Amino acid sequence: MAEVNAFEAATALMDWDHQTYMPQAAGEARAAHVSILSRLLHELLVSDETQRLAQEAAKEATSEDEKALVRVVSRRLEKSTKIPASLVEEKSRVSSEAHEIWVRARADNDFAKFRPSLERIVELNRQEAEHLGYTDHIYDALTDLYEEGATKKGWDAMFDGIRQPMVDLVARIKEAPAIDNRFLFGDWDVDAQRRFTEMLVEAIGFDMKRGRQDTAPHPFCTNFSVNDVRLTTRYQEFLGSAIFGSLHEAGHGVYEQGSPQEWDRTPLSGGVSLGVHESQSRTWENIVGRSKAFWSRYLPELKRSFPALPGLSLDDFYRAVNRVEPSFIRVEADEVTYNLHIMVRFEIECGMLEGSLAVKDLPEVWNEKYRQYLGITPPTDSLGCLQDVHWSGGMIGYFPTYSMGNILSYQIWEKLQADLGDTDRLMADGEFAPILGWLQDKVYRHGSKYPPSELIQRVCGGPLDPKPYLSGITRKYEGVYGLASTV
Ligand code: ZN
Repeated sequence: MAEVNAFEAATALMDWDHQTYMPQAAGEARAAHVSILSRLLHELLVSDETQRLAQEAAKEATSEDEKALVRVVSRRLEKSTKIPASLVEEKSRVSSEAHEIWVRARADNDFAKFRPSLERIVELNRQEAEHLGYTDHIYDALTDLYEEGATKKGWDAMFDGIRQPMVDLVARIKEAPAIDNRFLFGDWDVDAQRRFTEMLVEAIGFDMKRGRQDTAPHPFCTNFSVNDVRLTTRYQEFLGSAIFGSLHEAGHGVYEQGSPQEWDRTPLSGGVSLGVHESQSRTWENIVGRSKAFWSRYLPELKRSFPALPGLSLDDFYRAVNRVEPSFIRVEADEVTYNLHIMVRFEIECGMLEGSLAVKDLPEVWNEKYRQYLGITPPTDSLGCLQDVHWSGGMIGYFPTYSMGNILSYQIWEKLQADLGDTDRLMADGEFAPILGWLQDKVYRHGSKYPPSELIQRVCGGPLDPKPYLSGITRKYEGVYGLASTV
């Protein structure tokens, strides 16, 4: 597995470089390098030697950690061997072509250009699902790749729990006077943004001796070791882009840095699933980073760093960074409307896989769902069904993990608060060690040892539950918008 890890670290480093510093002309060579390494990695995973070693290890495993390691490796090998190499290769080739076609189609607002690629990708995903197998719904086989144990039925229940309350809350907010956040847009000094965001991510506990922050067009976090975790952010007109982008990625980063040193370069190291990972990025971005207590500590420093900011009050600033507005683009969505964007994608993915929704009808169905959930109609497909990178990259079954992260962040925070008491005071004092320490003890130090559902059970004492999220978000935004209290 150390050899497997070396291939993964090499491709991850190449991908990080691709998205940060690589010269534009290097694209073709980089794609060739990555695809060869991916093929060699797949061959290594499915080789007789690896299978034999895994079977022997299974017999020899005695400690709890060894058994966990065997479980994680077996799951990985089982999935790899079920999918024929030819399908792996075709999916990788089709998606890398589709990505380029999608970039152009989105720029030209031309869905017809992307349609044949998407049809092919849906078909390849169907084949992959059939090879992987499922008992209930074809979506189950694919979504389990991103969130172990997840099923369409489980996602349906999760969305059923939040759909109507969120639609209703958005409608109530729409009736309230809009919040002015124009003072957050400007030509901000890039160096000041870099210094301020690095100060913030270090303040919450991201260790810069074991990581760094660079810039990328679409921020992400990656790592090559527990001692080498990379954050990215972006400096834009909206000052919040850098601040909340950095806090979000640092949330992923502290989770990765929190794995035990002795597990480094093994499959037990690192976050357990996309949903649990997103719960941590959302915790630090939204629950901590968009709280009034946090800004009571950092607003004076923000004003010193950006003298062009007018003498605004804490309340003005707090409301501005929590402004809610139904919008077309998911990645720019606020905390309240975000899950509605995800529901649209989830329902469409299920329809395309089942065959109840033909790819040619996608733009029409997309726009109808935006009217229904968000009360707005995308004026173009670029601002509609062509906006996300996931499908062009061959990924179907991924989106619901974003909503799971939002819901789980509040559920875990409720437990954290019960143990730590006045978290507002801690944040107002810039005292993040107790918060990080709690998360470290309950979540981060377990890496990938437990399946996500078991980890949630251990931390929260029950399964994923939307109640803390619904009450937390309702209480917060009734406050932000001065609405009558219902919780
Ligand atoms: Zn994230």
